[in-house]
Amino acid sequence: MSRESQLRPMDAEQLREQAHKMVDFIADYYKTIENFPVLSQVEPGYLVKLLPDSAPNHPESLQDILIDVQEKILPGVTHWQSPNYFAYFPSNSSIAGFLGEMLSAGLNIVGFSWITSPAATELEMIVLDWLAKAFQLPDHFCSTGQGGGVIQGTASEAVLVVLLAARHKILRKVGKSALPKLVMYASDQTHSSLLKACQIGGLNPELCRSLRTDPSTNYALSPDVLYEAISNDIASGLIPFFLCATVGTTSSTAVDPLPALGKIAKSHGIWFHVDAAYAGSACVCPEYRHHINGVEEADSFNMNAHKWFLTNFDCSLLWVQDRNALIESLSTNPEFLKNKASQAKLVIDYKDWQVPLGRRFRSLKLWMVLRLYGLEGLRSHIRSHIDLAAHFEKLVRQDPRFEVVTPRTFSLVCFRLLPRPDSGHDGNQLNRDLLDSVNSTGNIFMTHTVLSGKYILRFAVGAPLTEVRHVDAAWQILQDKASSLLGNS
Ligand code: PLP
Repeated sequence: MSRESQLRPMDAEQLREQAHKMVDFIADYYKTIENFPVLSQVEPGYLVKLLPDSAPNHPESLQDILIDVQEKILPGVTHWQSPNYFAYFPSNSSIAGFLGEMLSAGLNIVGFSWITSPAATELEMIVLDWLAKAFQLPDHFCSTGQGGGVIQGTASEAVLVVLLAARHKILRKVGKSALPKLVMYASDQTHSSLLKACQIGGLNPELCRSLRTDPSTNYALSPDVLYEAISNDIASGLIPFFLCATVGTTSSTAVDPLPALGKIAKSHGIWFHVDAAYAGSACVCPEYRHHINGVEEADSFNMNAHKWFLTNFDCSLLWVQDRNALIESLSTNPEFLKNKASQAKLVIDYKDWQVPLGRRFRSLKLWMVLRLYGLEGLRSHIRSHIDLAAHFEKLVRQDPRFEVVTPRTFSLVCFRLLPRPDSGHDGNQLNRDLLDSVNSTGNIFMTHTVLSGKYILRFAVGAPLTEVRHVDAAWQILQDKASSLLGNS
């Protein structure tokens, strides 16, 4: 490679030329995305056999690298943006989100304090206030009040920082030595990120209450069960301090009853966090907003814009009622970061609202999404997926060999193939086999959960390219595989 054609660390003309090539590559990827097996079919360790065992000493060309991406990397990619992706929960990309990521990568600032890029902090405050309004969150979650919004990387980070804030607040009141007596409450359907936060927060694992749910509440947390647990703990001299409710649980999109739970939390001085990582997006539609009724009592509220809100990963939105609770537990003030605006307390420094110091300019991509699609565009995105899920649910209900296991509330359908009545089996192995055989086709990708001991298939609609023909084709595959397994094909 000649000296002139060598890639410099930054050069406007080289960037223009190379980035155009990359955009073409990505656009071609989306054009042909349906040609790939949705779930990567490689075996563990496949890549080490294909790549050299040390880094190149001399520069290579982008063209050569893109050939490797095509031939060696893409086979090991599971295509989350494929219209045939129905696994876990979606993780949307969009043109607007992509452009925002690109701009953010282009500017590449590190906006930990206001002074390090005032626009990064101020745009984040503005878009989170816009969204607080769009979700009809109470005024105290806005930056104009005592609280405010902040973009975290993930819902896991969001719950960690609020748990640390709640821990700090209670320990200031009751003394640091009370840490082993603090009790955390959530349902047994709560995402595992909460338990990880408790581990990091040094809580006594035996006092992390995972309260039982069952089909009688469609796996939502019962206020009576919570109340009883809190009463027992208080009677034993323990200190309840944190409650996490979920709107749209990971297994089955159960919705915990926020008004009743919030009332109990408030009357006991417990921090009340609402995790709406997936289903929060739906609440931008007036007809789904009621699912977060009761958020008025919450101390913190989280939704992942990177799940179902056309915002490329990562972008998790957290609002708190009292920003000082976060700041008091997470702020540091070293000499080398001091500046006039921060010292005079004229500004927000988001470094004090999160675990790391450095932070990306994520609000740019959220701003791009909001401006390029508008709230109405986002609403129709959500509604179209919910309609597709309702269509799938109808198909399942029409086939007596299957059952829908929990009510569909958003865009997830939980269902299973019924074992033959004379088989004497519980159907779990049958459904495991069905999932394996469906996923091994490479034509669709779905995942599972277990509820009350039943192995259940999850069909989560949410990829931006999914249309009714993809849902119909997925159902056809499921029916065909079911027929083979039941032996009546
Ligand atoms: N909470 C819920 C309800 C989830 O469904 C998930 C992930 O699917 C999470 C939290 C964790 O999300 P993240 O990967 O952003 O930490």
